[in-house]
Amino acid sequence: MRADPLASTLRELSAIQQRAVEWHDGPLLVLAGPGSGKTRVLTCRIARILDQSPDERFRVLALTFTTKAAHEMTTRVAALTPGLEERADIHTFHGFCAGVLRQHGVHLGIKPDFAIYSNARDRRSVLQDALARGTSYPDRADQRLLPRIDYLKARLVGADQAEEWCASRNGTPAREAARIARAYRLYEDELRRSNALDYNSLILEAHKLMAFPAMARHYRTMYRHWLFDEFQDTNGSQYKLLRRMAGSDFRRIFAVADDDQTIYEWNGASIRRIGDLVRDFGCEVVQLPTNYRCPPPIVEAGNRLVVYNARRRMRKRPAEAARPTSSHGERHIQCREFETDHDEATGIAAEIAALDATKRAGTLVLARTRALLESMQVALKEEGVPATLLARRDDFVSPQMRWMVACLRQLARPVDRRNMAILVDAFQRFAQVSLDLDDLLFSCAAEGVTPLSAWTRMVQSAGLRSPVSELANRVAGLASGEARPATAIEEILDLLGNHESDENLKDDLSAWRRLSGEIRREVGPAADLGRFLQELDLRSKEPPPAPGSVSLATIHGAKGLESDRVHLIGIVEGILPSWHSVNADGVGPLEEERRSCFVAVTRTKQRLVLSWARRYGEWPKAPSRFLEEMGLFGRECRRGPGAGPSVPHSSPE
Ligand code: ATP
Ligand code: MG
Repeated sequence: MRADPLASTLRELSAIQQRAVEWHDGPLLVLAGPGSGKTRVLTCRIARILDQSPDERFRVLALTFTTKAAHEMTTRVAALTPGLEERADIHTFHGFCAGVLRQHGVHLGIKPDFAIYSNARDRRSVLQDALARGTSYPDRADQRLLPRIDYLKARLVGADQAEEWCASRNGTPAREAARIARAYRLYEDELRRSNALDYNSLILEAHKLMAFPAMARHYRTMYRHWLFDEFQDTNGSQYKLLRRMAGSDFRRIFAVADDDQTIYEWNGASIRRIGDLVRDFGCEVVQLPTNYRCPPPIVEAGNRLVVYNARRRMRKRPAEAARPTSSHGERHIQCREFETDHDEATGIAAEIAALDATKRAGTLVLARTRALLESMQVALKEEGVPATLLARRDDFVSPQMRWMVACLRQLARPVDRRNMAILVDAFQRFAQVSLDLDDLLFSCAAEGVTPLSAWTRMVQSAGLRSPVSELANRVAGLASGEARPATAIEEILDLLGNHESDENLKDDLSAWRRLSGEIRREVGPAADLGRFLQELDLRSKEPPPAPGSVSLATIHGAKGLESDRVHLIGIVEGILPSWHSVNADGVGPLEEERRSCFVAVTRTKQRLVLSWARRYGEWPKAPSRFLEEMGLFGRECRRGPGAGPSVPHSSPE
């Protein structure tokens, strides 16, 4: 460990990066392309504020978009200012709102131990239960109601305003508007009955709270500095929340963003948002023109690509590469053409398999769609190459872990009937023990015990063999309060772990170990079970990548990442750009696809391999227009009938 990690890291920064880190308190937008050090500048600024004001009472608020990015930022700040990182609250927008509601939600009738329903299955079941209480059969069968409720919530339209909003703003016929509003009201009532919130209500309810002037003032006093990474991804409701919290005076805003990396327009992000920020908060703008990540040919290809977007607004300067071109004559960009998608997957897998283990671990395979990555994962498996798909999982995938988490939820919320149904169903799936939920609920009411206690009694009295009976005994210990939760959970995990040949369970167990450690470190050992479960709800349950494995990610899942070797597969018309964008009215969707391609290629630190096939399934496909726009045909790639791979698949390193 270096003597003063912050001082030495600050010395490594360029003059313009240092200027951004040391910026006074006024509002600033750091506008810069990929690999220009935006995240580095942001973490250094947090560390510097903490370092220079160790005795001040205020904290620093830093927001980003994924729990993984937030965790990474916390780790980087901790490395720069060991021991002080606890004074920086680094969250996702949703995580921050959950904290606000935990502390103050009672003003809106929200109890602090609310559950967060992050997966679609739970939310569908809430809506089904809600509709069963209050509406006719056709409503119950309408699959479009939940997306409509989500649409309204994402625009901060509450159930009470929904009817008027749909009729006046959205041109919905009056009867239909009334029907949607009624379903929305029932859904909200059902959530409230279960003391639960869904993802969109975290933002909506926090936004409502900030309408109390004292509340917004409280957060302005508590957090003197607000910092945002990847600001271009902020959607409309998040931005409104931010404005309401800031009121008319607060201006200590420090945001880093790249308008050319806005790839969440479908989720409410907008290329206009950065301009709004500059205008609404009077931000000065600092540009970081140097790309420290990619070799020059990749920086140039990226520059050539983005200028095809006619709607760029921010006048960002073209990036300059800080790194030299390889002195070993390595071609930093290479192209591969294949006959079919199957050939592409097996060809690229064979190429990766020929690498030594260290190079494999630094390889990232990117695609526009998850389906392409799944084929790639199979092909890599056939080559014996370990590969991890980096994709958000809203829930554990094995019934064993779903059951265990349901037991914990039941402890925290003893009368949660919906959760009890999950518990019974999951247990039946792996232990083949069938219990009738209605019987169980009846018996617990008759005996005056909790549903979890009634469940353990039923299982224990069924005369099952170990380890299933052992699992029930451990849960009985938890339910009666006789067992220490941490010990009982460890014992349950050990009993479940005996079946580790099950791949899903293996993934879930390693995800659990990582998450539970991470949460305990972040919330402290004294945090109660309800808090632990809320944190668990907010995080992805994907397993950590196995050591030495190749990473696979969709372009949307690769934001902020970088890797020595990047394979971008499926770069054809109809996939990247997507079929929808090519056939859409207006250029907006196509420009978003171009930005996706820009994000993908600029993840590369050393070598980028672009590949495509002439046929995907039954469909003939042409190489993507983006290859031409990046200026690669004629340079790195050949085109036209009969064009084979531009270099052999197993080219020597
Ligand atoms: P993205 O837009 O993709 O999120 P970014 O602008 O946030 O990229 P960082 O991830 O902060 O960029 O930095 C990209 C890479 O460049 C990292 O490996 C970082 O350590 C390195 N880097 C940043 N600044 C410097 C510098 N001044 N000298 C050397 N390396 C740097
Ligand atoms: Mg970044």
